Amino acid sequence: MVQQDYIAENIKRVRAAIAEAAIGVGRSPGDISLVAASKTHPAASIRQAIAAGVDAVGENRVQELMEKNAQGAYNGSPLHFIGHLQSNKVGKIVGVCDLIESVGSKPLLELIGKKALSLGIVQNVLIEVNIGKESQKSGILPEQAEEILEFASRTAGINVMGLMAIPPINEQNAKCCYYYDTMFKLFIDIGEKKYDNVIMRILSMGMSDSYVEAIRSGSNMVRIGSAIFGTRY
Ligand SMILES: *Cc1c(COP(=O)(O)O)cnc(C)c1O
Repeated sequence: MVQQDYIAENIKRVRAAIAEAAIGVGRSPGDISLVAASKTHPAASIRQAIAAGVDAVGENRVQELMEKNAQGAYNGSPLHFIGHLQSNKVGKIVGVCDLIESVGSKPLLELIGKKALSLGIVQNVLIEVNIGKESQKSGILPEQAEEILEFASRTAGINVMGLMAIPPINEQNAKCCYYYDTMFKLFIDIGEKKYDNVIMRILSMGMSDSYVEAIRSGSNMVRIGSAIFGTRY
């Protein structure tokens, strides 16, 4: 039993840290969504995380998501896609995921919209921003935000709910806070403009090593893997 409880214990610890960070900057802990990033972890572990009360589960790879979904791993929880999305896999996750967090191009938005229309649904998405402007990362550049939201406003079948970012890794703390602050500013600035199909409500940023800093900068959705499930092998 002791062994099985570690996921619930970890979630309790993460929730406490989220609450402390939120309260510290005058925000309500309940405003921060906790997404369990479950790549490489089995269905049994994901069920434990759901039972312990995470707000959603996030997967990175379409194949892995489909396998675990077939095992009922996500039952009772919203499911997010948070990984790099290839256009030929779009059809497999539209309508299956409650939120696709990692939409980083117009062609992807368009494909998602088409698939959603064919299913008679509207797909909720976040726009991924490549805030560190790293060549190996997907996501739009910050200066493209208005252009893609304008495009989204003319694309049927999608509903943009906010922004997502994965800042450069191995940066000093001060540097990661700079990226988080820059994301928050972008989130607020474009939130003031009005586009059809767009409600700037979610700012998804912060992982195991930096979610406290992300929340202090204005994140309201954190994606936590190793601090919940332990190290990935
Ligand atoms: C794996 C992953 C996370 C969580 O990473 P940890 O450092 O294990 O918390 C968050 N977001 C994305 C997109 C991921 O791929």
